[in-house]
Amino acid sequence: MAAALLEKPIEYLKGVGPNRGILLRKELGISTCKDLLYHFPNRYVDRTRFYSIAQLPKVQADVQVVGKITDIRLIKQSKGKRLVATFSDSTGEIELVWFRGHQWIQKQLKTNVPYTAFGRLMWYGPRCSIAHPELDEEDPSQKKKNAIFQPVYPSTEKLANRNITNRTMRQIMHHLFEELRVGVRETLSDDILSTHRLIGATDALRAIHFPKNLKELEQAQNRLKFEELFFIQLQLLQKKRDQQNRFKGHLFDRVGDYFNSFYSNHLPFALTTAQKRVIKEIRSDFGSGAQMNRLLQGDVGSGKTIVAFLSALIAFDNGKQVTMVAPTEILAQQHFTTLSKIAEPLGISVRLLTGSSKTAERKELHEELLSGKLQLLVGTHAILEPTVHFNDLGFAIIDEQHRFGVAQRAKLWKKNKIPPHILVMTATPIPRTLAMTLYGDLENSIIDELPPGRKPITTAHRTDNNRLAINQFIKAEIKKGKQIYIVYPLIEESSKMDYKDLMDGFESISRDFPQPVYQVSIVHGRMKSEDKAYEMQRFVERKTQIMVATTVIEVGVHVANASVMIIESAERFGLSQLHQLRGRVGRGDDKSYCVLMTGNKLSNDAKTRIQSMVRTQDGFELAEVDLKLRGPGDLMGTQQSGILQLRIADLNQDGELLAKVRAVAIKLVMDDPALTKVNNKPIADTLQLLQSGKGIWKYIS
Ligand code: ADP
Ligand code: MG
Repeated sequence: MAAALLEKPIEYLKGVGPNRGILLRKELGISTCKDLLYHFPNRYVDRTRFYSIAQLPKVQADVQVVGKITDIRLIKQSKGKRLVATFSDSTGEIELVWFRGHQWIQKQLKTNVPYTAFGRLMWYGPRCSIAHPELDEEDPSQKKKNAIFQPVYPSTEKLANRNITNRTMRQIMHHLFEELRVGVRETLSDDILSTHRLIGATDALRAIHFPKNLKELEQAQNRLKFEELFFIQLQLLQKKRDQQNRFKGHLFDRVGDYFNSFYSNHLPFALTTAQKRVIKEIRSDFGSGAQMNRLLQGDVGSGKTIVAFLSALIAFDNGKQVTMVAPTEILAQQHFTTLSKIAEPLGISVRLLTGSSKTAERKELHEELLSGKLQLLVGTHAILEPTVHFNDLGFAIIDEQHRFGVAQRAKLWKKNKIPPHILVMTATPIPRTLAMTLYGDLENSIIDELPPGRKPITTAHRTDNNRLAINQFIKAEIKKGKQIYIVYPLIEESSKMDYKDLMDGFESISRDFPQPVYQVSIVHGRMKSEDKAYEMQRFVERKTQIMVATTVIEVGVHVANASVMIIESAERFGLSQLHQLRGRVGRGDDKSYCVLMTGNKLSNDAKTRIQSMVRTQDGFELAEVDLKLRGPGDLMGTQQSGILQLRIADLNQDGELLAKVRAVAIKLVMDDPALTKVNNKPIADTLQLLQSGKGIWKYIS
């Protein structure tokens, strides 16, 4: 019965009806009773506590006060009017305020009758008020007896305007539970419930909406978080298993001349232990007969390129082609230069394909690619175009994954009958919980060690007052033969203001560092790509000493002689961007510096970002800070944020639970891969529901 009820449209429920039904659907995405059931409160207020006005906390908080209305008045404001009531008890008075529904509310309000007022307390200097309070006439002594942990549901302004208050939501939820007497179907197996001491699904749902006490609430949260994370992990693991069953991979069973001769004769440096470990991991995937899908995380400068190249050599040894896709033209160009230099002595043919490749050149490239003459194709997402056909692509490398979506990964798969092995590299370390959730279907490799001899980058926070000293410092560094980056925020290429700041900055730098003693370059997104490449090249060749740029140089750019990174308006950059930018220096043998220039007043978040940058150079640590500041959705960009909108689990706080749940899911998939055991039927059923699109827990696609 319950199942049928849960599929019913929300209008069916007592207290909803057509109008509210439309609103709930539009504003909260609640269409069925099931959606409503899984619309969880986002916080709870303790209604066992009553305040006297004199003792109200001096912060924004949910409070409950017993008192009387002594005065009611309408006050004109810039737009319309507001209704204000003075509310007092024996210790003092506060204001109750309404911005909407004056007429109706004014009619209801009675003076000199005891009310319990409940709502969010706001302070304006010494005065405080509660906007749109819940008012109860009920005898407060009675109220105290019934007092409970009260749920507060996420809502929207429109719902509030249309008088669907939190109280309304609570009432609707009560009606739902009245109908749902028999409860819901269990989704987890008895084994899992008992091993992990989880309460049943029905109890958990009831307690998440109407907890009797803190303990019950915690049990409910734990059970539902477990369930949510469990089904995400299970789907990821199933997807991975399906891929492995469905697709054979290219079997690279030999390590031949390309690899061996490069490794013994041409390797420009000794590999770090971490690099060696990752190459071993990749080799073992290549030899397994299954398609590799591997994520390689390594901080800026940890040496991912050489790992990718050595892996590519194994593919060449097995007669396959390789491609490397980078997110920007500058980066593709740079990879092309680096890789050509090491590949050509081995007799490997390399070409570059980007959006600005000329037609004639493309034609030749396409031919060589199709005939198999071309072995290594480096480029931008131009490579993903359906017109680009390989003879036999065996291995695809995606650099700087955070700019690529899942869909783009899939395009590479289609470039050969047997999909190529895929290595996704990212220099923006991803917090562990996100990696498990977003890339749970990928194997994970980490380079957690920088090449020897790297000197730490000294990072400092400065403001405009320090401008002269900084210019002196830049001049001293240039005198030593070093080069300088100065980066301006151009967060959106279209922003006129940002563009003007950049140009003003460029002018004043050109004034402070005049020719012919100093040469200043500029690179930004509005320039033609040839011009960008030309300016970059001048800087690489040390023809210019200062590079003024926007974040186009954020990823991958490598100029070992640059020793100073100045970031203007650093408070406007995100933490991972700052870390990426800083990673442009500290690539040579000399001491290097990063200066974060900001205004004098900083928001709390900006302060945390800047302080974290000054404190640490560890990208994984910064990624954790970033996750706390921004939340998982924003952190990973819009493309991936959808699948990170969890209902109840929180990737910031539930890392330990997630790790445990993933282990449980892995064990389950090993013990009972097709979920055919009787015990696991609830899980199999739930999974099936999820995959048919009817499930409540996010389907990861
Ligand atoms: P990223 O991981 O940021 O892509 P790169 O692959 O560009 O880093 O490597 C950064 C620099 O470090 C390059 O100049 C590279 O040649 C150098 N490098 C990489 N591995 C080592 C190593 N084991 N020892 C010394 N230098 C290395
Ligand atoms: Mg790189």
